[in-house]
Amino acid sequence: MNANTRKAPAISVHEAILESLHDAVVIVDPNGDVEMCNQAAEEMFGRHRAALCGLPLAELLVDNERPRADRGQYRQQVDERSCVHTRREMLAIEADGTRRVVEVTAADLAGESDRQCLIVGDMTADRRVAVTAAKLSILQQVVTRATTTLITSSSLNDSMAEALAAIGEVLDVAHGFVFRVRTFGGSKTLTTPAEWSSSKADGLKRGLIEMSILRDPWIRQELDADRVVTVEDSEVADSDTAALMREHGVRSMILLPIQCPNTLEGVLGFDETRAGRKWSADERAVLSNLAQALARSIERIRAQWSLEEARKRSCEALARAEAASEAKSEFLANVSHELRTPLTAIVGYADLAARASTSLEDRIRMCTRIQRSADFLLGLINDILDISKIESRKMAVQLASVNLTELISDAVMSLNWIAQDKGIEIAVEYATDVPSQIISDGTRLRQILVNLVSNGLKFTSEGGVTITVSYEKPQEEKKFGTLRLQVRDTGIGIRPEKIKKLFAKFTQVHTDGKYGGTGLGLAITRHLARLLSGDVEVESAWGKGSTFTVSMPVTIPEQAEVVGEGATAAPVAEVVADVRPGTRVLIADDNEDNRQIFSLVLEDVQADITVVEDGQLALDAVEAAERNGKPFELILMDMNMPVLDGYDATRALRKQGVELPIVALTAFSMATDRDKCLAAGCDGYLTKPIRPEVLLREIARRTNSNGDPVAVEVEDGEPKVADAGEGQSVFEGNPEYEELLESFRGVVGKRMDKIVGTFESGNGERLRALVHQMKGSAGCYGFMSLVAAATKCENRLRSGGGVESVADDVREMARLVERIKEVW
Ligand code: ADP
Repeated sequence: MNANTRKAPAISVHEAILESLHDAVVIVDPNGDVEMCNQAAEEMFGRHRAALCGLPLAELLVDNERPRADRGQYRQQVDERSCVHTRREMLAIEADGTRRVVEVTAADLAGESDRQCLIVGDMTADRRVAVTAAKLSILQQVVTRATTTLITSSSLNDSMAEALAAIGEVLDVAHGFVFRVRTFGGSKTLTTPAEWSSSKADGLKRGLIEMSILRDPWIRQELDADRVVTVEDSEVADSDTAALMREHGVRSMILLPIQCPNTLEGVLGFDETRAGRKWSADERAVLSNLAQALARSIERIRAQWSLEEARKRSCEALARAEAASEAKSEFLANVSHELRTPLTAIVGYADLAARASTSLEDRIRMCTRIQRSADFLLGLINDILDISKIESRKMAVQLASVNLTELISDAVMSLNWIAQDKGIEIAVEYATDVPSQIISDGTRLRQILVNLVSNGLKFTSEGGVTITVSYEKPQEEKKFGTLRLQVRDTGIGIRPEKIKKLFAKFTQVHTDGKYGGTGLGLAITRHLARLLSGDVEVESAWGKGSTFTVSMPVTIPEQAEVVGEGATAAPVAEVVADVRPGTRVLIADDNEDNRQIFSLVLEDVQADITVVEDGQLALDAVEAAERNGKPFELILMDMNMPVLDGYDATRALRKQGVELPIVALTAFSMATDRDKCLAAGCDGYLTKPIRPEVLLREIARRTNSNGDPVAVEVEDGEPKVADAGEGQSVFEGNPEYEELLESFRGVVGKRMDKIVGTFESGNGERLRALVHQMKGSAGCYGFMSLVAAATKCENRLRSGGGVESVADDVREMARLVERIKEVW
């Protein structure tokens, strides 16, 4: 053996074995510092042996689940986790800070219980694969569980929050969130239905931060195109998006679009704030599945909502139908009773009057009874017709010049016999100066008054009914004055708790059967008042009487006279219409009874009458009269006649240049019939059955020189159509508009909700745009009251008034919309 070679330091067998091992071996002293190690340890920890010896082991090996331990804690960690003689996973730290996963087996050295030998095996590559696979499998399980919950849960937000927490933990990220994209009035907004923050992260809710990152154009473009967005490390990446993320402290992020078909409904996202992070293809795929499950759940919940809404709507409709059918049955019972009573009187008196033994005086008395019962029946039929017109929205108003004083006297006159029968009085008082002529719908105004006065008479047995008329002149630049008709009675009154129900159709608040009636009158009255842009109010004291007040805006024609304040006008005496004796009238009617009645009435006032049975004969008669130099002064033209009907006959006469007044007689009272008659060339229009005094008055006013104008007068710059009243369109009743109006009624509520929502959110610019839209559509559909309210609101916003300044306008619009939506 060579002496030199012998000089080489001798190593023990143990040492030789130690140095040849692939695993690092470290002997640790009782303080937890490295006492000695092998070559593999030098490689593993990236330090020379001399540098390693004396270092606290805690600086070389750390628990990968706990923060780095100090010296003392190291021992404790090892002991506590019972890893002596067992294997455990830790992180080895190289001098440059690189970490690698290692497996540490610790053993006490025999006989030296305070010194330990650690064998540290590098397992980085295998381990990474294994961990990744394990994590992915856990992630898959969590996502599957979350998906199942989402599919079955009734609270999407709760299940989303749970899913985010579970997945966020597995991904070991800082935050998870779900945003919903909502389109509101054309612009998109984001809401955060679910959010989660890791306890390891700063714990702050970060919705706002992610929201601002989501506004990044590239991110939006990618999400809209249904692509997953990932940024691995904003510290490394060089893009605007990365800069934005850095600004908000987000290092890494994944965003997954939630698309419910072809529309971005939301975004599922996770982010990491502590370090950069890779998002593996597998993770992206699993999370995409979750985003799709979310989309399906949103669709499902939506479908459930619509189903629920439809169910609710049908339940409500059913309840309404049941209530309506109950009310209608009651109504039918009332109506048949109401019909029977006057019919019994008519049949009975007619029978008695026809007997030879009945004296002339009794016959006259009986005829009066028969006439009143017939009038009553007619009123009832008219009410029923009106209700059906209102229900089918066919009721419309026709504005014209109306002689107010005459209208009131006429209404009073028609009811005076009831007052006389009961021994009570009807009085009329003019509380202010009142124009004798107003622009209104005379038929409807009369109907309102008759309804209220006859109710007053019905429920009063002592005292009487007083009609107080007053007129408030237009204020400042307004062109409408206010007409008030107050009907006060000294009758039984109405209990306060019943007042609310009073105007509902088929409703009677005195149900003892003593008073009869159908419960329609007040419902019709209120509807008519509203059609005329007004309303009815009631005050009542139980046992003392009631006061019904109708107020409505009216305009007055230029030459209207004034009835002085303090004037009274009741009780009213019979007025005979002033038809000049010898007035030449042509009656064209195919119905023999009608011809007879009209002849009798006209002969009574010594008119010079000619009677024909069809339109052609009417043309011949007109020609003959002209030829004889005795032209007619007026034609009463039935519109439904054989050979040539009233429409064609009128058109033919007008074509021949005949200018004499033609008054149409028809059995129908729809507004459209009236329009049709006027369009054919008639000057006036009477609905059968026609009361003699009405017929005579019509003939008198058309054959005397001072006939009233019929057209509505409109001032320059105002719409050429008059307002049809709150909740009513000026096109109401026009069949061509029916469907359009219906569709507007269906959507106007939602549009109003949007206006109210925008008002509440304080967005003045948007509010102005919405109100402007509302004004336009309301105008298109002819809802002029809503146009007026929207115009006010828009003008106020336009002139710089803040959102708060239009609170009243918005409320008024909402009220009008409710009126429009009402069936009534
Ligand atoms: P009708 O009179 O045909 O029953 P209305 O709709 O006109 O129908 O009236 C509804 C109910 O309101 C009446 O049945 C009555 O109970 C009550 N009512 C109406 N007007 C008066 C009044 N002037 N005084 C007392 N009660 C009234």
